[in-house]
Formats: sequence, structure tokens, C-alpha cells
Amino acid sequence: MTANAAPLGHCPECGRSVPQNWVLIEYERENGERGVFAECPSCEEVVRPE
Ligand SMILES: [Zn+2]
Repeated sequence: MTANAAPLGHCPECGRSVPQNWVLIEYERENGERGVFAECPSCEEVVRPE
């Protein structure tokens, strides 16, 4: 078990939590925040977890 397994966030479409290992792309926003695109395990859409 790792201590770093918190979910990325929730799918904006269906509200399900998106695990870290479903991430597709990480990028840095202009304001320095990290953004991610991930595939939702429930609705199988590419989403930005919130
Ligand atoms: Zn979803």
C-alpha cells in the first residue's frame, strides 16, 4: 500500500472518484497549477477531475 493513492478528484459528468492510475495527461496551467486529464472509470469519458 502506498500513502500516495488519493484519487485525482471526481468526474464532472457522473461524480465518481477517479483513481490516480486512470490519468492520461498531466500539464501545467499558466497559473502554475497542475492540471490532469483522466479517463473516468464509470462513464469512460476523458474528463478533468474536480
Ligand atoms: Zn464519469
